[in-house]
Amino acid sequence: MGPVLPDRCQTCRAVVNPAWETCAACRRPLTSHEITIEQAALHARPVYWERGDTSIVGPGTPEFLARVGQGPKASYWVIALYQGGPVWINSMILRSQQAFETQILPTVCTPIHDANNTQYRWRRK
Ligand SMILES: [Zn+2]
Repeated sequence: MGPVLPDRCQTCRAVVNPAWETCAACRRPLTSHEITIEQAALHARPVYWERGDTSIVGPGTPEFLARVGQGPKASYWVIALYQGGPVWINSMILRSQQAFETQILPTVCTPIHDANNTQYRWRRK
């Protein structure tokens, strides 16, 4: 018998598929995969990364580096301190400080319509 795979994320308790590598809710690696963690360099450069809404956030202070899984399917993570808490950042979504500083933030708009309902305009929230 193999190990019992979790069907809930150990971090946020969201229900997960054991075949997933990461939790769909909090994006952390699932513990059914082998995780190797090492300390980040003492004065490692701050990291920036892209979130699901394509905005780039940071800086985070790297604390640990982690490898999840083995071989060609392994994924690599930076565990960084951000706004007082640890964040797991997949190496695939790391971005440069320059990308962070030059990003064009999306504007959230709400539709409004004029009195005779024929035309829609956009108003900034
Ligand atoms: Zn989770």
